[in-house]
Amino acid sequence: MPSGRVHNLINIAAYSVLAAGALVAVRQQWLVVTPVQALNFSLAYAAGTFLLSPDLDLAEGKVDSKRHWGILGVLWVPYGMLFSHRGWSHSWVIGPLTRLAYVALIGLLLVGILKFVAPGVSLPQMPQPLSLKVTVPLVLGYYLSQWLHLMADGVRPDHGLRKGYRRVRGR
Ligand SMILES: [Zn+2]
Repeated sequence: MPSGRVHNLINIAAYSVLAAGALVAVRQQWLVVTPVQALNFSLAYAAGTFLLSPDLDLAEGKVDSKRHWGILGVLWVPYGMLFSHRGWSHSWVIGPLTRLAYVALIGLLLVGILKFVAPGVSLPQMPQPLSLKVTVPLVLGYYLSQWLHLMADGVRPDHGLRKGYRRVRGR
């Protein structure tokens, strides 16, 4: 199975090809992409590749993504304990959502703790509901980065849905 570094290289290579293709398509006016959409797609893709890799399900493992979180990487240990390696965390639809939900949960916990410890501190406002124009590139970028990882792992799209589903063996 590919290591974290190989996964990163695959994703970077795929991004380069995609960006070149998109550039040509925009030049030829086959496609309309605003700079904000391109930026959102790229940011979500980078976050999915470097910060929210499916391999965060390795609680004790030295995961590339965990290293990118720096000292906060330790916050991913419970996630790794919650999800078996290459189980639900490596499913195509639910897997990426589990990591987003986990980040949201940790964020809420931290806000809760901060409010308890320092009640006077003013916190940034919750983000307003985003328009489709903003959301679609975010979702596409994030999911594409995740699916490339799963394809490189040899995980099929129906992983986790098949009857008699078992964890894929190995890493
Ligand atoms: Zn993996």
